Amino acid sequence: MSQASFKVGTSLLEIVRGDITQQDTEAIVNAANKRLAPGGGVAGAIHRAAGPELWDECQNLDGCETGEAKISAGYRLKARHVVHTVGPVYNNTPQNAVDLENCYLNSLRLAKENGIRSIAFPAISTGIFGYPLQEAAEISLRAVINFLQQNSSPDLVRFVLFGANDFQVYEETLQKIRDEKGN
Ligand code: ADP
Repeated sequence: MSQASFKVGTSLLEIVRGDITQQDTEAIVNAANKRLAPGGGVAGAIHRAAGPELWDECQNLDGCETGEAKISAGYRLKARHVVHTVGPVYNNTPQNAVDLENCYLNSLRLAKENGIRSIAFPAISTGIFGYPLQEAAEISLRAVINFLQQNSSPDLVRFVLFGANDFQVYEETLQKIRDEKGN
């Protein structure tokens, strides 16, 4: 089954195999570039699914720095909002992990500020930006679990993995973290 879930306090952390553009969460997260332009990968897919109004709005958001997050409407998506965050381009420096963690934390903070109760993330930086999947899985899952423990918000965080291998790596990493925590 391509789905796993883990209760963190009163919130639910899910990992599923699927397409982020099809998610019915209140927000989906875009692995954006600094200009918040359509481009390839997830960003291209999200802009295509949302329609041209998304790029119109993004041009007024004044770009986004690595590790930071901006919010827009979702237009033709099921999700009401898109949270845009810019992952690090992997170059094997310690700053990469800090930046990647900040992508998740700043996206979750922005979601909380906007009253968003459910949000779906892709595996930020693991495509064109070259972040090794296993390391990215560990950083992103730990960041989300820590945030949920401290904030009890949002109610649902879903990781949406595109490939079967990506899903398997996330599932195994989640299991490892659960084993460490004794649940
Ligand atoms: P980055 O530039 O941050 O690396 P990419 O868009 O290249 O972003 O890829 C990030 C991850 O998103 C990759 O693991 C890629 O396989 C995955 N991905 C691509 N398209 C989708 C999609 N429609 N839904 C979910 N994940 C996707």
